Parts: sequence; C-alpha cells; structure tokens
Amino acid sequence: MSNPSALPEGDHTIYKTLLESTKAIPWQIDWATLRFTYIGPQIEQLLGWQQDSWLSVDDWASRMHPEDRERVVNFCVAQSQAGSDHEADYRALTQDGRYVWIRDVVHVVRNEQGDVESLIGFMFDISERKQTEHELMRLQQELQELSFKDSLTGVANRRMFDNLLEEEWIRARRQQHPLSLLIFDIDYFKQYNDCYGHVQGDDCLRQVAQILDRAATRSRDFFARYGGEEFVLLLPETDEISARKVAERCRSLIFKEQIPHAGSAVSQLLTLSIGVGCCVPTPGQNPMEFVDQVDRLLYRAKERGRNCIIPGF
Ligand code: GH3
Ligand code: MG
Ligand code: MG
Repeated sequence: MSNPSALPEGDHTIYKTLLESTKAIPWQIDWATLRFTYIGPQIEQLLGWQQDSWLSVDDWASRMHPEDRERVVNFCVAQSQAGSDHEADYRALTQDGRYVWIRDVVHVVRNEQGDVESLIGFMFDISERKQTEHELMRLQQELQELSFKDSLTGVANRRMFDNLLEEEWIRARRQQHPLSLLIFDIDYFKQYNDCYGHVQGDDCLRQVAQILDRAATRSRDFFARYGGEEFVLLLPETDEISARKVAERCRSLIFKEQIPHAGSAVSQLLTLSIGVGCCVPTPGQNPMEFVDQVDRLLYRAKERGRNCIIPGF
C-alpha cells in the first residue's frame, strides 16, 4: 500500500469524493466576505435547496427556524470572532417548508498571523436524535405527573399532598397566616362495597373526588385523595370560620348528588364525616402533628354518629 502522505499536492479528488459521499455535509465560509466558498451537494438531498443557492451566511441564517436564529447566529459569530471551534443545534428550513434538526460543527481556520481566515464545518442531520430526546422528555414529564396523581380518581395523591403541605406550612409559619385542613372519610364505605360491589365502589370514589375537588375555589386550595375512602383539602390563608363554611359546602354538595347508600346505618344516602382544623404554625410544631390533630377530630365525628363536621377550635 502506498503512503497516504504521498498524495500529490493539489490532488483533491480523493478528499472531494470522500467528503461528498458522507452523510455529514461539509461547507466552508470565507470570513472576510462571509460567503460560502463550498458546500457539499448532499445539502440538496437533505434540505431541498440547491447547492448553488448557498451564497452567504445570510442564506444560512434565513433558512433557520425564527426561534433559533438569534441565539444561534449570535453564538456562532461570537465564537468565530474569538477564534473558538464550536457547535450549534438548530432547526433548518427545507425548501418545502419543513424543519430538520441540524448540528453544525465548526472549526475556525486562522492564518499565520492568527487572524480568522475561514470557517469550515460539517452539518449533521440530528432529527432522529432530537425526536428521541423529545419523546424521552415527554415520557419523563408524564411519569412525573403520574407519580403525583391518584390513578383511580385522577386527583392529586398523598405524595403530592405531603409535598404541598410542607410548602404551605413553611409559608404560613413565615407569614403567620392561618392554615386550615379538612379530612373527609366516607361513612360505612365497607358496607357500600358489600352492598354494590367494588366496581361501583370505585365509581363512587371517583364521583366523590370530583365533587369535593370542585368545592375548593381559591387558587392555592389543594385537594387530594389521602388513601382508601379518605380525602383531604388544604386551605392556605383560611381561618376557622371560612374552613368550616367550606366543610359545610362539601357536605351539601355530596348531599345534592343524592348518592344511594342502602348499607349505611346513618342515612339512605352517602354521607361524610369531616374533621376541620386550623392553625398558625409555630416554630416548634410540625405539619404531621397538625394532620394527626385533624385526624383525631375526624375520629370524634365517627364516634358522634358520623355524617357530621367536627371543628377543632
Ligand atoms: P366508617 O364509617 O367508620 O368510616 O366505616 P368504613 O367502612 O368507611 O371504614 P373502614 O376504614 O373500615 O373501611 C374503608 C373501606 O373502604 C374499606 C375498603 O374496602 C374501602 N376502600 C378503600 N379503598 C378503596 C378503593 O380504592 N376502592 C373501593 N371500591 N373501596 C375501597
Ligand atoms: Mg377510612
Ligand atoms: Mg369510612
């Protein structure tokens, strides 16, 4: 085999053939005039624009997605002026109006004095990679949403509630605002299942969740399924009187639905027991103690015969 360095000076045929048979698209721009001195013919296959239509950097910039243009052009100009090799991802416009994700990898060529003489680079079609990236991001987001959502009812789950309670607790403590919490428990739900079956039991939980979710009207009010047939409603910046009114509204909304419950010992209709607590958090307290207090109020409501609201103040 002959020595590759023995290739005759000026014989560029082999380089040209190699460059024009790769998937990456080679190009060269003269820095003084900002005009293309070369671009591989593969560009036409990728973007549809003819090889000889690439005259200056303006053609390059104008065939870029408007949302990418400013960022990419500014970045490439700054890097080139500094004489730094760089790369940029952007969406290139095709002749038929679509966009293709491109990665442009740029090498800055300097003369002996160190001045920038030209830019040479390769454009890579990275649309498949970008699509995979987008798909992954979408899945990741979906997964995150799912991990905070109760799969049966579609409302927030306990994990989300725990996070939010922590946040609202800190905020209420800092601002010394009252924070209210309602805990709901469906009366005789075991009997509901026994009477109507688990499938209808599930439907009932969905219905109750949708009704109670509507009862909270302020933007930071937060409703979640706490577990089983228990739900919670967190009411920031809400005093005891308002919290109690919300609890009454919840009871009347459920009553209005007239959900039959033949297995209940307190009514022919589905009813709730509700514990209502309110506090202005102090530094020594923690939010789980508050939840326990309200849970005890709920327990008292059960002891008092169910279908009632027990406020803790
Ligand atoms: P109480 O009035 O004292 O609250 O009585 P209860 O029967 O509602 O209370 P208990 O906590 O003993 O029972 C709750 C029942 O809720 C038990 C369980 O079968 C039912 N349950 C919990 N989660 C689900 C669910 O996801 N779907 C259905 N269908 N039932 C559930
Ligand atoms: Mg229960
Ligand atoms: Mg119950």
